[in-house]
Amino acid sequence: MTATTTIDQDDSSRCPFCGGDLSGPCTPQCFYDHNGECVGCRTRLGVPCPPVCPLETGELGVPVILRFAAKLLDLHNLGLGCDVAEAVFTAAQVLADEREPYPLHTAAVAAVKAYLTRQYGPGCGLSGRELMQHIGLMAQVEVIALTLYAVAAEAEGIKFNAADFGDFR
Ligand SMILES: [Zn+2]
Ligand SMILES: [Zn+2]
Repeated sequence: MTATTTIDQDDSSRCPFCGGDLSGPCTPQCFYDHNGECVGCRTRLGVPCPPVCPLETGELGVPVILRFAAKLLDLHNLGLGCDVAEAVFTAAQVLADEREPYPLHTAAVAAVKAYLTRQYGPGCGLSGRELMQHIGLMAQVEVIALTLYAVAAEAEGIKFNAADFGDFR
């Protein structure tokens, strides 16, 4: 196995991007996505997040976890595809900081599984878990990230427009 993962899975108190201690301030870029938008509230880089930003309130939900997980896919690329569930877990672990990451991880993974099951149809013969492993192995990172954003939009009750996803690379 030629793992290129640079995250120390046990060190949940460190930001995977700047290596900073999450109990203190991170560099602003750490929580902005490929479009330069906050993964919490979608506010553009350079504009202060509103007080209702989930990263400010700490009221994290599935959309925030999944948008942050998309940023982490490359760190969970094992050369044979991405471990999507691990990326989601790391996102939950980092964002939950000192709190319990498991409920967030479980909710986010359940949302992805439900979405994929609907996309592929119940007749495809694969479980939600298998579908998640399948896209991790078979799909390009951009496509996986787009999928995570589609699930995030759905969880927020927003109609997802793939054209707004932007250039992931
Ligand atoms: Zn950071
Ligand atoms: Zn924000």
